[in-house]
Amino acid sequence: MRLAMLLLSACLLCACPRPALSGSGDAAALDTAASLRERALADTTAWRVVESLTTEIGPRLAGSEADARAVAWAQAKFRELGYDRVWTEPVTFPRWERRGESAQVLGAHAQPLVVTALGGSPGGTVEAEIVRFDSLEALQAAPAGSLQGRIAFVDHAMPRARDGSGYGKGGAIRSRGPSEAIRKGAVGFLMRSASTSPQRVANTGITRFDDGLEPVPAAALSLPDADQLARLLQRGPVRVRLALDCGWDGEYTSHNVIGEITGRDAPQEVVLLGAHLDSWDLGTGAIDDASGIGITMAAGHLIGQLPQRPRRTIRVVAFANEEQGLLGGREYARRHAADVANHVIAVESDFGAGRIYGFNTSGGDAPAVARIAGALAPLGIAHLPGKGGPGPDISPLAAVGGAWAWLGQDGTRYFDLHHNADDTLDKIDPADLAQNLAAYAVFAWMAAESDAGFGSAPKPANDADE
Ligand code: ZN
Ligand code: ZN
Repeated sequence: MRLAMLLLSACLLCACPRPALSGSGDAAALDTAASLRERALADTTAWRVVESLTTEIGPRLAGSEADARAVAWAQAKFRELGYDRVWTEPVTFPRWERRGESAQVLGAHAQPLVVTALGGSPGGTVEAEIVRFDSLEALQAAPAGSLQGRIAFVDHAMPRARDGSGYGKGGAIRSRGPSEAIRKGAVGFLMRSASTSPQRVANTGITRFDDGLEPVPAAALSLPDADQLARLLQRGPVRVRLALDCGWDGEYTSHNVIGEITGRDAPQEVVLLGAHLDSWDLGTGAIDDASGIGITMAAGHLIGQLPQRPRRTIRVVAFANEEQGLLGGREYARRHAADVANHVIAVESDFGAGRIYGFNTSGGDAPAVARIAGALAPLGIAHLPGKGGPGPDISPLAAVGGAWAWLGQDGTRYFDLHHNADDTLDKIDPADLAQNLAAYAVFAWMAAESDAGFGSAPKPANDADE
Protein backbone atom coordinates (compact mmCIF):
# COMPACT_ATOMS: atom_id res chain seq x y z
CA MET A 1 0.00 0.00 0.00
CA ARG A 2 2.89 2.36 0.79
CA LEU A 3 4.16 2.15 -2.79
CA ALA A 4 0.68 2.86 -4.17
CA MET A 5 0.27 5.91 -1.94
CA LEU A 6 3.61 7.27 -3.13
CA LEU A 7 2.63 6.76 -6.73
CA LEU A 8 -0.73 8.36 -6.11
CA SER A 9 1.01 11.43 -4.64
CA ALA A 10 3.47 11.54 -7.50
CA CYS A 11 0.67 11.42 -10.05
CA LEU A 12 -1.30 14.15 -8.29
CA LEU A 13 1.78 16.34 -8.26
CA CYS A 14 2.47 15.93 -11.96
CA ALA A 15 -1.25 15.94 -12.89
CA CYS A 16 -0.66 12.78 -14.84
CA PRO A 17 -3.91 11.89 -16.70
CA ARG A 18 -3.44 8.12 -16.15
CA PRO A 19 -5.52 6.71 -13.25
CA ALA A 20 -3.05 6.78 -10.41
CA LEU A 21 -3.70 3.31 -9.03
CA SER A 22 -3.73 1.29 -12.20
CA GLY A 23 -0.69 -0.28 -13.75
CA SER A 24 1.53 0.10 -10.72
CA GLY A 25 2.04 -1.05 -7.15
CA ASP A 26 -0.63 -2.96 -5.29
CA ALA A 27 -3.32 -2.28 -7.87
CA ALA A 28 -1.13 -3.77 -10.57
CA ALA A 29 -0.40 -6.74 -8.33
CA LEU A 30 -4.13 -7.27 -7.89
CA ASP A 31 -4.74 -7.01 -11.64
CA THR A 32 -2.05 -9.59 -12.26
CA ALA A 33 -3.49 -11.79 -9.50
CA ALA A 34 -6.89 -11.66 -11.19
CA SER A 35 -5.47 -12.66 -14.56
CA LEU A 36 -3.33 -15.41 -12.96
CA ARG A 37 -6.45 -16.73 -11.25
CA GLU A 38 -8.35 -16.95 -14.53
CA ARG A 39 -5.41 -18.50 -16.37
CA ALA A 40 -4.85 -21.05 -13.62
CA LEU A 41 -8.49 -22.15 -13.62
CA ALA A 42 -8.11 -23.07 -17.30
CA ASP A 43 -4.57 -24.45 -16.95
CA THR A 44 -3.72 -28.16 -16.98
CA THR A 45 -0.10 -27.97 -15.79
CA ALA A 46 -0.84 -29.21 -12.25
CA TRP A 47 -2.82 -32.11 -13.65
CA ARG A 48 -0.07 -33.01 -16.13
CA VAL A 49 2.56 -32.94 -13.38
CA VAL A 50 0.46 -35.23 -11.15
CA GLU A 51 -0.20 -37.55 -14.08
CA SER A 52 3.51 -37.67 -14.90
CA LEU A 53 4.65 -38.39 -11.34
CA THR A 54 2.02 -41.03 -10.58
CA THR A 55 2.41 -42.74 -13.95
CA GLU A 56 6.15 -42.59 -14.61
CA ILE A 57 7.36 -43.02 -11.02
CA GLY A 58 4.31 -44.57 -9.34
CA PRO A 59 4.62 -45.34 -5.62
CA ARG A 60 7.74 -43.76 -4.12
CA LEU A 61 8.41 -45.12 -0.69
CA ALA A 62 11.22 -43.17 0.96
CA GLY A 63 14.47 -45.04 0.51
CA SER A 64 13.19 -47.25 -2.31
CA GLU A 65 14.58 -47.43 -5.83
CA ALA A 66 11.63 -45.22 -6.87
CA ASP A 67 12.72 -42.52 -4.40
CA ALA A 68 15.86 -41.96 -6.49
CA ARG A 69 13.82 -41.90 -9.71
CA ALA A 70 11.43 -39.37 -8.16
CA VAL A 71 14.32 -37.07 -7.23
CA ALA A 72 15.63 -37.19 -10.81
CA TRP A 73 12.09 -36.68 -12.11
CA ALA A 74 11.54 -33.59 -9.94
CA GLN A 75 14.76 -31.93 -11.10
CA ALA A 76 13.87 -32.56 -14.73
CA LYS A 77 10.30 -31.33 -14.20
CA PHE A 78 11.39 -28.06 -12.58
CA ARG A 79 13.71 -27.44 -15.55
CA GLU A 80 11.00 -28.34 -18.06
CA LEU A 81 8.69 -25.84 -16.32
CA GLY A 82 11.16 -23.01 -16.75
CA TYR A 83 12.43 -22.53 -13.20
CA ASP A 84 15.45 -20.23 -12.95
CA ARG A 85 17.41 -22.37 -10.49
CA VAL A 86 17.07 -26.05 -9.62
CA TRP A 87 19.10 -27.85 -6.98
CA THR A 88 18.98 -30.64 -4.39
CA GLU A 89 19.86 -30.88 -0.71
CA PRO A 90 20.64 -34.29 0.83
CA VAL A 91 18.43 -35.88 3.50
CA THR A 92 19.64 -39.06 5.22
CA PHE A 93 17.37 -41.41 7.14
CA PRO A 94 16.93 -45.07 8.10
CA ARG A 95 15.33 -47.17 5.36
CA TRP A 96 12.19 -49.23 6.00
CA GLU A 97 11.04 -51.90 3.55
CA ARG A 98 7.79 -53.80 3.07
CA ARG A 99 8.20 -57.19 1.43
CA GLY A 100 5.06 -59.11 2.33
CA GLU A 101 2.13 -59.22 4.73
CA SER A 102 -0.82 -61.45 5.52
CA ALA A 103 -3.22 -62.32 8.30
CA GLN A 104 -5.68 -65.15 8.85
CA VAL A 105 -8.30 -66.03 11.40
CA LEU A 106 -7.48 -69.54 12.65
CA GLY A 107 -9.76 -72.34 13.84
CA ALA A 108 -13.44 -72.97 13.21
CA HIS A 109 -14.03 -69.71 11.34
CA ALA A 110 -10.69 -69.71 9.47
CA GLN A 111 -10.45 -67.01 6.82
CA PRO A 112 -8.04 -64.40 5.49
CA LEU A 113 -8.01 -60.79 6.68
CA VAL A 114 -6.85 -57.78 4.66
CA VAL A 115 -4.04 -56.07 6.55
CA THR A 116 -1.08 -53.85 5.88
CA ALA A 117 2.00 -53.39 8.03
CA LEU A 118 2.42 -50.03 9.71
CA GLY A 119 5.56 -48.24 8.58
CA GLY A 120 8.36 -48.95 11.06
CA SER A 121 6.93 -52.30 12.09
CA PRO A 122 9.37 -55.17 12.48
CA GLY A 123 8.77 -58.36 10.54
CA GLY A 124 7.71 -61.57 12.23
CA THR A 125 4.92 -64.09 12.51
CA VAL A 126 2.71 -64.30 15.57
CA GLU A 127 -0.27 -66.55 16.30
CA ALA A 128 -2.29 -65.41 19.26
CA GLU A 129 -5.67 -64.64 20.72
CA ILE A 130 -7.16 -61.23 19.92
CA VAL A 131 -8.17 -58.76 22.64
CA ARG A 132 -10.35 -55.93 21.32
CA PHE A 133 -10.41 -52.33 22.61
CA ASP A 134 -12.66 -49.59 21.27
CA SER A 135 -10.16 -46.78 21.90
CA LEU A 136 -6.55 -46.00 22.71
CA GLU A 137 -7.70 -44.95 26.19
CA ALA A 138 -9.25 -48.38 26.77
CA LEU A 139 -5.97 -50.05 25.77
CA GLN A 140 -4.07 -47.71 28.09
CA ALA A 141 -6.43 -48.64 30.92
CA ALA A 142 -5.84 -52.39 30.53
CA PRO A 143 -4.03 -53.92 33.53
CA ALA A 144 -0.30 -54.49 33.17
CA GLY A 145 0.44 -57.95 31.81
CA SER A 146 -3.18 -58.51 30.76
CA LEU A 147 -2.18 -58.91 27.10
CA GLN A 148 0.57 -61.43 27.80
CA GLY A 149 0.99 -63.55 24.65
CA ARG A 150 -1.97 -61.87 22.92
CA ILE A 151 -2.59 -59.50 20.01
CA ALA A 152 -4.14 -56.14 20.89
CA PHE A 153 -6.82 -54.92 18.46
CA VAL A 154 -7.89 -51.26 18.68
CA ASP A 155 -11.19 -50.85 16.85
CA HIS A 156 -11.82 -47.10 16.83
CA ALA A 157 -13.96 -45.78 13.94
CA MET A 158 -12.56 -42.51 12.62
CA PRO A 159 -15.29 -39.93 11.80
CA ARG A 160 -15.39 -38.18 8.43
CA ALA A 161 -14.76 -34.40 8.60
CA ARG A 162 -14.02 -31.63 6.11
CA ASP A 163 -11.00 -30.49 8.12
CA GLY A 164 -9.74 -34.03 8.73
CA SER A 165 -10.07 -33.61 12.49
CA GLY A 166 -10.97 -37.28 12.94
CA TYR A 167 -7.38 -38.15 12.07
CA GLY A 168 -6.17 -36.85 15.42
CA LYS A 169 -7.41 -39.94 17.28
CA GLY A 170 -6.83 -42.35 14.40
CA GLY A 171 -3.25 -41.19 13.94
CA ALA A 172 -2.59 -41.39 17.68
CA ILE A 173 -3.71 -45.02 17.75
CA ARG A 174 -1.28 -45.77 14.92
CA SER A 175 1.67 -43.96 16.47
CA ARG A 176 1.16 -44.82 20.15
CA GLY A 177 -0.97 -47.97 20.15
CA PRO A 178 1.82 -50.49 19.47
CA SER A 179 3.95 -49.26 22.38
CA GLU A 180 0.95 -49.28 24.72
CA ALA A 181 0.16 -52.84 23.64
CA ILE A 182 3.75 -53.99 24.25
CA ARG A 183 3.69 -52.50 27.74
CA LYS A 184 0.68 -54.69 28.53
CA GLY A 185 2.52 -57.78 27.26
CA ALA A 186 1.11 -58.03 23.70
CA VAL A 187 3.03 -59.98 21.04
CA GLY A 188 1.30 -58.19 18.15
CA PHE A 189 -0.83 -55.14 17.35
CA LEU A 190 -3.78 -54.68 15.03
CA MET A 191 -5.84 -51.55 14.49
CA ARG A 192 -8.88 -50.57 12.49
CA SER A 193 -7.30 -48.42 9.76
CA ALA A 194 -7.22 -44.67 10.41
CA SER A 195 -9.51 -44.35 7.42
CA THR A 196 -12.99 -43.49 6.25
CA SER A 197 -12.91 -45.85 3.26
CA PRO A 198 -15.65 -48.45 2.99
CA GLN A 199 -13.46 -50.37 0.54
CA ARG A 200 -11.48 -53.48 1.47
CA VAL A 201 -8.17 -51.61 1.60
CA ALA A 202 -5.97 -51.14 4.65
CA ASN A 203 -4.12 -47.94 5.50
CA THR A 204 -0.46 -47.81 6.37
CA GLY A 205 1.43 -44.93 7.98
CA ILE A 206 4.39 -44.60 10.29
CA THR A 207 4.39 -45.94 13.82
CA ARG A 208 7.00 -45.61 16.51
CA PHE A 209 8.12 -47.80 19.36
CA ASP A 210 9.10 -46.17 22.62
CA ASP A 211 12.70 -46.58 23.74
CA GLY A 212 13.35 -49.68 25.80
CA LEU A 213 10.50 -51.70 24.28
CA GLU A 214 10.98 -54.73 22.03
CA PRO A 215 8.96 -53.91 18.86
CA VAL A 216 6.25 -56.37 17.79
CA PRO A 217 4.55 -56.82 14.41
CA ALA A 218 1.99 -54.02 13.97
CA ALA A 219 -0.59 -53.77 11.20
CA ALA A 220 -3.87 -52.15 10.20
CA LEU A 221 -7.04 -53.91 9.03
CA SER A 222 -9.37 -52.59 6.34
CA LEU A 223 -12.64 -51.31 7.81
CA PRO A 224 -14.70 -54.27 6.51
CA ASP A 225 -12.09 -56.65 8.00
CA ALA A 226 -12.12 -54.80 11.34
CA ASP A 227 -15.93 -55.20 11.35
CA GLN A 228 -15.57 -58.88 10.49
CA LEU A 229 -13.09 -59.46 13.30
CA ALA A 230 -15.38 -57.64 15.76
CA ARG A 231 -18.32 -59.87 14.72
CA LEU A 232 -16.21 -63.00 15.14
CA LEU A 233 -15.17 -61.83 18.61
CA GLN A 234 -18.85 -61.58 19.57
CA ARG A 235 -19.06 -65.32 18.89
CA GLY A 236 -16.16 -66.25 21.13
CA PRO A 237 -12.36 -66.18 21.36
CA VAL A 238 -10.54 -65.60 18.06
CA ARG A 239 -6.97 -66.58 17.23
CA VAL A 240 -5.19 -64.78 14.40
CA ARG A 241 -1.96 -65.46 12.57
CA LEU A 242 -0.23 -62.20 11.59
CA ALA A 243 2.77 -62.60 9.29
CA LEU A 244 4.75 -59.52 8.32
CA ASP A 245 7.91 -59.48 6.24
CA CYS A 246 9.22 -55.94 6.60
CA GLY A 247 11.63 -53.89 8.66
CA TRP A 248 14.49 -51.43 8.88
CA ASP A 249 17.50 -51.97 6.65
CA GLY A 250 20.40 -49.54 6.80
CA GLU A 251 20.45 -45.87 5.85
CA TYR A 252 19.53 -44.04 2.69
CA THR A 253 20.27 -40.57 1.37
CA SER A 254 17.48 -38.93 -0.61
CA HIS A 255 17.12 -35.25 -1.48
CA ASN A 256 14.87 -32.26 -1.08
CA VAL A 257 14.46 -31.01 -4.66
CA ILE A 258 14.16 -27.24 -4.97
CA GLY A 259 13.20 -24.96 -7.84
CA GLU A 260 13.18 -21.18 -7.80
CA ILE A 261 11.60 -18.38 -9.74
CA THR A 262 14.15 -15.75 -8.80
CA GLY A 263 12.84 -12.43 -7.50
CA ARG A 264 13.63 -9.28 -9.50
CA ASP A 265 14.15 -6.84 -6.58
CA ALA A 266 14.64 -8.89 -3.44
CA PRO A 267 15.86 -12.32 -4.58
CA GLN A 268 17.06 -13.19 -1.06
CA GLU A 269 13.48 -12.91 0.25
CA VAL A 270 11.67 -16.19 -0.28
CA VAL A 271 8.02 -17.19 -0.52
CA LEU A 272 8.17 -20.95 -0.02
CA LEU A 273 5.64 -23.38 -1.51
CA GLY A 274 6.04 -26.95 -0.29
CA ALA A 275 4.74 -30.46 -0.87
CA HIS A 276 6.31 -33.88 -0.37
CA LEU A 277 7.79 -36.00 -3.09
CA ASP A 278 7.73 -39.35 -1.28
CA SER A 279 4.61 -41.45 -0.78
CA TRP A 280 3.58 -44.71 0.79
CA ASP A 281 3.88 -47.77 -1.39
CA LEU A 282 0.32 -49.12 -1.60
CA GLY A 283 -1.25 -46.69 -4.10
CA THR A 284 0.58 -44.31 -6.42
CA GLY A 285 0.53 -41.43 -3.92
CA ALA A 286 -1.79 -39.33 -6.10
CA ILE A 287 -3.57 -37.32 -3.42
CA ASP A 288 -0.70 -37.83 -0.94
CA ASP A 289 1.10 -35.97 -2.21
CA ALA A 290 1.55 -35.88 -5.99
CA SER A 291 -1.32 -33.38 -6.02
CA GLY A 292 0.67 -31.03 -3.78
CA ILE A 293 3.71 -31.43 -6.00
CA GLY A 294 1.61 -30.64 -9.08
CA ILE A 295 -0.13 -27.63 -7.49
CA THR A 296 3.08 -26.01 -6.19
CA MET A 297 5.26 -26.74 -9.24
CA ALA A 298 2.56 -25.42 -11.56
CA ALA A 299 1.99 -22.30 -9.43
CA GLY A 300 5.65 -21.31 -9.72
CA HIS A 301 5.54 -22.14 -13.42
CA LEU A 302 2.53 -19.86 -14.09
CA ILE A 303 4.20 -16.98 -12.27
CA GLY A 304 7.39 -17.68 -14.22
CA GLN A 305 5.40 -17.18 -17.43
CA LEU A 306 4.53 -13.57 -16.52
CA PRO A 307 6.34 -10.78 -18.40
CA GLN A 308 8.46 -10.01 -15.36
CA ARG A 309 9.62 -11.87 -12.28
CA PRO A 310 7.89 -11.11 -8.95
CA ARG A 311 9.66 -8.79 -6.52
CA ARG A 312 10.64 -11.68 -4.21
CA THR A 313 11.77 -15.20 -5.01
CA ILE A 314 9.26 -18.04 -5.19
CA ARG A 315 10.89 -21.25 -3.97
CA VAL A 316 9.12 -24.56 -4.50
CA VAL A 317 10.41 -27.40 -2.32
CA ALA A 318 9.61 -31.05 -3.09
CA PHE A 319 10.42 -32.46 0.33
CA ALA A 320 12.00 -35.87 0.87
CA ASN A 321 10.52 -38.45 3.21
CA GLU A 322 7.63 -36.68 4.89
CA GLU A 323 5.86 -39.94 5.57
CA GLN A 324 8.31 -41.45 8.02
CA GLY A 325 8.76 -38.39 10.21
CA LEU A 326 9.09 -35.10 8.25
CA LEU A 327 12.74 -35.94 7.58
CA GLY A 328 13.03 -33.59 4.59
CA GLY A 329 11.21 -30.77 6.35
CA ARG A 330 13.37 -31.10 9.46
CA GLU A 331 16.55 -31.11 7.40
CA TYR A 332 15.41 -28.06 5.43
CA ALA A 333 14.71 -26.13 8.65
CA ARG A 334 18.06 -27.20 10.13
CA ARG A 335 19.96 -26.13 7.04
CA HIS A 336 18.11 -22.82 6.58
CA ALA A 337 17.41 -21.85 10.21
CA ALA A 338 19.90 -18.98 10.10
CA ASP A 339 18.03 -17.58 7.10
CA VAL A 340 14.54 -17.92 8.55
CA ALA A 341 13.90 -14.16 8.52
CA ASN A 342 14.28 -14.23 4.73
CA HIS A 343 11.66 -16.96 4.47
CA VAL A 344 8.95 -14.35 4.29
CA ILE A 345 6.13 -16.89 4.40
CA ALA A 346 5.70 -20.61 3.67
CA VAL A 347 2.69 -22.69 2.68
CA GLU A 348 2.34 -26.41 2.01
CA SER A 349 -0.11 -28.46 -0.01
CA ASP A 350 -0.40 -31.87 1.68
CA PHE A 351 -4.07 -32.59 2.17
CA GLY A 352 -5.12 -34.01 -1.18
CA ALA A 353 -6.77 -32.38 -4.15
CA GLY A 354 -10.10 -31.21 -2.74
CA ARG A 355 -11.14 -27.60 -3.26
CA ILE A 356 -9.64 -24.93 -1.02
CA TYR A 357 -12.23 -23.27 1.20
CA GLY A 358 -10.19 -21.32 3.76
CA PHE A 359 -7.13 -19.11 4.08
CA ASN A 360 -5.19 -17.95 7.08
CA THR A 361 -1.69 -16.89 8.07
CA SER A 362 0.31 -17.00 11.29
CA GLY A 363 0.21 -13.21 11.31
CA GLY A 364 1.76 -10.36 9.41
CA ASP A 365 0.89 -7.01 7.98
CA ALA A 366 -2.90 -6.92 8.22
CA PRO A 367 -3.59 -4.90 5.03
CA ALA A 368 -1.30 -7.24 3.05
CA VAL A 369 -3.07 -10.32 4.43
CA ALA A 370 -6.44 -8.72 3.65
CA ARG A 371 -5.34 -8.01 0.05
CA ILE A 372 -4.34 -11.66 -0.40
CA ALA A 373 -7.65 -12.76 1.11
CA GLY A 374 -9.46 -10.43 -1.30
CA ALA A 375 -7.64 -11.90 -4.28
CA LEU A 376 -8.54 -15.45 -3.12
CA ALA A 377 -12.21 -14.67 -2.41
CA PRO A 378 -13.43 -15.12 -6.03
CA LEU A 379 -12.20 -18.73 -5.77
CA GLY A 380 -14.69 -19.39 -2.97
CA ILE A 381 -11.99 -19.10 -0.33
CA ALA A 382 -12.88 -17.42 2.96
CA HIS A 383 -10.44 -15.65 5.25
CA LEU A 384 -10.64 -17.71 8.46
CA PRO A 385 -8.51 -16.08 11.17
CA GLY A 386 -7.64 -18.56 13.91
CA LYS A 387 -7.98 -21.60 11.65
CA GLY A 388 -5.42 -23.96 10.18
CA GLY A 389 -1.70 -24.23 10.75
CA PRO A 390 1.55 -24.88 8.93
CA GLY A 391 1.66 -28.00 6.74
CA PRO A 392 3.80 -30.89 8.04
CA ASP A 393 7.01 -30.19 6.12
CA ILE A 394 7.00 -26.47 6.90
CA SER A 395 6.19 -27.00 10.58
CA PRO A 396 9.90 -27.36 11.52
CA LEU A 397 10.56 -24.04 9.74
CA ALA A 398 7.61 -22.47 11.59
CA ALA A 399 9.07 -23.82 14.83
CA VAL A 400 12.25 -21.79 14.31
CA GLY A 401 10.27 -18.63 13.52
CA GLY A 402 9.05 -18.88 9.92
CA ALA A 403 5.68 -17.34 9.12
CA TRP A 404 3.16 -19.68 7.53
CA ALA A 405 0.02 -19.54 5.47
CA TRP A 406 -2.74 -22.10 5.36
CA LEU A 407 -4.83 -22.82 2.27
CA GLY A 408 -7.33 -25.25 3.75
CA GLN A 409 -8.56 -27.98 1.44
CA ASP A 410 -11.84 -29.84 1.71
CA GLY A 411 -10.69 -33.15 3.20
CA THR A 412 -14.10 -34.82 3.37
CA ARG A 413 -12.91 -37.66 1.09
CA TYR A 414 -9.19 -37.45 1.89
CA PHE A 415 -9.16 -40.32 4.37
CA ASP A 416 -10.95 -42.62 1.92
CA LEU A 417 -7.67 -42.70 -0.03
CA HIS A 418 -4.87 -41.56 2.26
CA HIS A 419 -2.13 -44.21 2.72
CA ASN A 420 -4.06 -47.01 1.04
CA ALA A 421 -4.08 -48.77 -2.33
CA ASP A 422 -6.93 -46.58 -3.62
CA ASP A 423 -4.74 -43.45 -3.70
CA THR A 424 -4.53 -43.28 -7.48
CA LEU A 425 -4.85 -40.61 -10.17
CA ASP A 426 -8.48 -41.37 -11.11
CA LYS A 427 -9.63 -39.98 -7.73
CA ILE A 428 -8.47 -36.45 -8.60
CA ASP A 429 -10.96 -34.03 -10.14
CA PRO A 430 -9.05 -31.83 -12.63
CA ALA A 431 -11.33 -28.84 -11.97
CA ASP A 432 -10.72 -29.05 -8.22
CA LEU A 433 -6.99 -29.36 -8.84
CA ALA A 434 -7.10 -26.24 -11.04
CA GLN A 435 -8.89 -24.32 -8.25
CA ASN A 436 -6.00 -25.31 -5.96
CA LEU A 437 -3.50 -24.16 -8.57
CA ALA A 438 -5.29 -20.82 -8.86
CA ALA A 439 -5.19 -20.34 -5.09
CA TYR A 440 -1.48 -21.17 -4.83
CA ALA A 441 -0.56 -19.01 -7.83
CA VAL A 442 -2.55 -16.04 -6.47
CA PHE A 443 -1.18 -16.45 -2.95
CA ALA A 444 2.43 -16.87 -4.12
CA TRP A 445 2.20 -13.94 -6.49
CA MET A 446 0.64 -11.58 -3.96
CA ALA A 447 3.10 -12.54 -1.20
CA ALA A 448 6.09 -12.31 -3.55
CA GLU A 449 5.07 -9.04 -5.17
CA SER A 450 4.36 -7.38 -1.81
CA ASP A 451 6.94 -5.63 0.32
CA ALA A 452 4.96 -6.39 3.46
CA GLY A 453 6.26 -8.71 6.17
CA PHE A 454 4.41 -11.67 7.65
CA GLY A 455 6.30 -11.94 10.90
CA SER A 456 9.19 -14.32 10.17
CA ALA A 457 11.90 -13.84 12.79
CA PRO A 458 14.42 -16.24 14.32
CA LYS A 459 13.14 -18.07 17.36
CA PRO A 460 15.36 -20.06 19.74
CA ALA A 461 15.28 -23.72 18.82
CA ASN A 462 14.23 -24.67 22.35
CA ASP A 463 10.97 -22.83 21.71
CA ALA A 464 10.36 -25.27 18.88
CA ASP A 465 6.87 -26.70 19.17
CA GLU A 466 6.91 -29.08 16.24
ZN1 ZN B 1 1.27 -36.21 2.91
ZN1 ZN C 1 0.89 -39.28 4.10
